[in-house]
Amino acid sequence: MTYLLDALAARAGEFIRLRRDIHRHPELAFDEHRTAALVADKLEGWGYAVERGIGATGVVGTLVRGNGTRRLGLRADMDALPIHEANGAEWASVHAGVMHACGHDGHTAMLLAAARHLAEHGAFDGTLHLIFQPAEEGGGGALRMMDEGLFERFPCDAVFAMHNMPGVAQGHFVLRDGAAMASSDYATLTLHGVGGHGAMPHRAADPIVAAASIVMALQTIVARNIDPLQAAVVTVGALHAGQANNVIPASATLELSVRALDRDVRALIEQRVKALVAAQAESFGITAQIDWRPGYAVLVNTAAETAFARAVAVELVGAARVTLQGPPLTASEDFAFMLERVPGSYVLIGNGVGDGTGAGGCMVHNPGYDFNDANIGVGSAYWVLLTERFLVANGQAAA
Ligand SMILES: [Zn+2]
Ligand SMILES: [Zn+2]
Repeated sequence: MTYLLDALAARAGEFIRLRRDIHRHPELAFDEHRTAALVADKLEGWGYAVERGIGATGVVGTLVRGNGTRRLGLRADMDALPIHEANGAEWASVHAGVMHACGHDGHTAMLLAAARHLAEHGAFDGTLHLIFQPAEEGGGGALRMMDEGLFERFPCDAVFAMHNMPGVAQGHFVLRDGAAMASSDYATLTLHGVGGHGAMPHRAADPIVAAASIVMALQTIVARNIDPLQAAVVTVGALHAGQANNVIPASATLELSVRALDRDVRALIEQRVKALVAAQAESFGITAQIDWRPGYAVLVNTAAETAFARAVAVELVGAARVTLQGPPLTASEDFAFMLERVPGSYVLIGNGVGDGTGAGGCMVHNPGYDFNDANIGVGSAYWVLLTERFLVANGQAAA
């Protein structure tokens, strides 16, 4: 597929400049007004039917060609992170404390580059929906767009997304079918005891001793309740109680982060945390209040769509540059919610393996990170080829 790689590389300069412009003006979750307007204006200029303001700042651009009945969704995220940039690039963020540290500027630019090529030269037959979502970084922008009727208004037979991955060679693709990224849930435990004098513990109900016991007991969930062949994390990231050595406080609070790579494991952890905390609290004569907050779901790539996405990657860059089944990740991603509704796959593109000083190897969410502009050409070529292979007139995808 060198002609596509060459064609998209030839016009990459325009989209590298665009990527750097977005990078210079990062916007936090649900505040992506400038970015969303830029995306929507570009798409309109290229002939897309554009819907703005879905899920606050989300944008959908639709292009219909021919009589084909198949419908494809491609998703990019647009939000930045509350991190102060320290990579020294001339296109560094002009907003102190806000930066594109996850490469969503690059994801947006790659999809826009593909959008322009598809509008001008796309050999496809069917309906293409380009979904630019807000608030991937913890805000649940995907869910908000879905709550506002994303897939009812723009039905898709399959949906795909791409994320850059530092530590993987630039322009290489990594795919995985099945569970690929973890669910992420949060809980606040508040232990209510009876405060008192540190010298007379028998006249108090000490929430600190109870908290210490609960922290240790929680470790047994992964060790004793979860199948050893499954992955799970229960982390107590904060424990607050008391202020003085001779005062038993009346309460203690614990903050938990819980991750799993399987929906049943996720449910089991929640059940075990609640049961264990309640029983432990009772044994210490205190009460426990649990505020359980579900976060992102387990991201599960469907088999047929992942096989298709693999075939497209191999056709584009050759088998040597495609990892057919990468390892699962314990990070989370709200594209998981879209995959609960529509089959599809989440594809990783290598950002580079440099020393972490701008060569693409620096991990995302690091102040020194930057998206690798060399991926604008190959990443957009991937979207173009995937669209042309999926939206075919006879309804038979290449997979
Ligand atoms: Zn991120
Ligand atoms: Zn990200």
